[in-house]
Amino acid sequence: MTVIMQEFPLTVGRILDHAAKYHPNRKIVSRSVEGPITHTNWANIQRQAKKLSQVLLSMGVQTGDTIGVMAWNTARHFEVWYGVPGAGAVNHTLNPRLFADQLVYIINHAEDRLLMVDFDLIPTIENIWDRLKTVENIIVMTDREHMPESSTLDLLCYEELLEKQDGNCEWVEVDETAPCGICYTSGTTGDPKGVVYTHRSNTLHALASSAPDMLGLSSNDVVMPVVPMFHANGWSLGYTAPMMGSSMVMPGRDMSAKGLYEMLGFGVTFTAAVPTIWMLMLQHLQSNNLTLPTLERVIIGGASCPRAVIETFQNDYDVQVLHAWGMTEMSPVGTVCTFKPEVTALDASGRLDAQGTTGHPPYSVDLRITDDAGVEQPWDGNTSGKLWARGAAVVQRYFKQDSDAVDKDGWFDTGDVATIDENGYMRITDRSKDVIKSGGEWISSISLENAAVAHADVAEAAAIGIPHPKWDERPILVIVAMPDKSPDPQDILALVAQSFAKWQVPDDVVFMDELPHTATGKISKLELRKILNNQGYELP
Ligand code: ADP
Repeated sequence: MTVIMQEFPLTVGRILDHAAKYHPNRKIVSRSVEGPITHTNWANIQRQAKKLSQVLLSMGVQTGDTIGVMAWNTARHFEVWYGVPGAGAVNHTLNPRLFADQLVYIINHAEDRLLMVDFDLIPTIENIWDRLKTVENIIVMTDREHMPESSTLDLLCYEELLEKQDGNCEWVEVDETAPCGICYTSGTTGDPKGVVYTHRSNTLHALASSAPDMLGLSSNDVVMPVVPMFHANGWSLGYTAPMMGSSMVMPGRDMSAKGLYEMLGFGVTFTAAVPTIWMLMLQHLQSNNLTLPTLERVIIGGASCPRAVIETFQNDYDVQVLHAWGMTEMSPVGTVCTFKPEVTALDASGRLDAQGTTGHPPYSVDLRITDDAGVEQPWDGNTSGKLWARGAAVVQRYFKQDSDAVDKDGWFDTGDVATIDENGYMRITDRSKDVIKSGGEWISSISLENAAVAHADVAEAAAIGIPHPKWDERPILVIVAMPDKSPDPQDILALVAQSFAKWQVPDDVVFMDELPHTATGKISKLELRKILNNQGYELP
């Protein structure tokens, strides 16, 4: 049979084209890194993004080149978000909070040719510059007036470069399966792993995750992404919001509850962040007697959302909470907790129970739970198992790895442990991957352990996450000392602090005579957690 439907490549430039053509005047309000609040719209963002793609092409950027972007959530970041893939290049989001060694590793590993950086983050780049192997140029995302002085770096000015262009061009044509962005995630080993998103996966993911039973975005929404755009594909809001023609409020680098509350005042109806941010926000609202007059929905994910946060938002502020689960490897939305008819039919407390789960997947995400032998487990809401995922926007293989990250049937092991109930609502019950998550950011336990055993009097070390009311988890070190030695805990922590950011340094050191091991000789973190629990261990 002859194919008679049109080819419509699913490239992300078309998302911005749609916003600029059909929702051109939708407001984009932004707290700029320079300070003032700026106002723009999708039509202007498109023009600027096109100018940027002209700049990049004039600098010799080729299709498939990787460009590192280290920037806060601002309107200008949107121009880059689309200008980079619009030039055929790959947008590598850089988290400025990473420890220097990790930044060096991922920039070299991704082979970034060019860096685009907010002006306040230039010192971070100066600090690592002599270790970067592939970067040829640095564009500072500001105007001439705010250009920083640097004795080590040759800096180009973003606004000056864009002024010389007319924005009159088409996006560079690429296949929909071409790479569009790359985001690194901390794995169980010390080295971060790159997840490469394609134009097609980003487009399909945005379509699926903005559906009514998922984020349910529309052109009447004003969306404020608090979750940084460099974190897990920015939870895809950089694609879903323009695709649905929403307005946006960009909070810039001020993540304080006071700063965010000011930005909510620009008519925000929908916002998204990790639980820690919302706990601080609720405290701020309560202690200052404030209300949330325009906010309708808040998406909370990245870590388990406490029931009290859900209850307070809904009962005291009339804001619907969407508890969600996702991963960098899944672009990132895996499940969102909205009400299917079975849940709508429950009483208030039953619905709240359902919201303790992370909900159900969108079309294009498929989930299953298995026991250790790979046997599928029942969906009874009680039996837990390893959680596996597959789908149109789920990683197949990490960047530059020799083998796939999925099993022979295409299932990706999420490293989470979960139950699924008869209605398909998934609840995370544990984590089998060996990483600690604090305030929404990863800390590699293996790297902490390696740093600790570098101490001459330490025989064995285990880093584990202890539940924490504000940060979700905080790391501690459990140490077995060398025979007849009793190392000073402060010395061990000082040694760790030499190679970790301050917030990653463990809160405590606990000494034990021996650590529990699995049959294969690995430290059993599950067993270790049980032992500490039985001892009534509490964080200092
Ligand atoms: P993000 O933090 O944006 O979800 P990451 O890739 O950094 O993405 O982290 C993914 C991991 O975070 C998941 O595999 C899971 O361990 C944890 N996680 C994410 N959302 C939740 C949630 N709602 N409840 C419990 N854990 C979660």
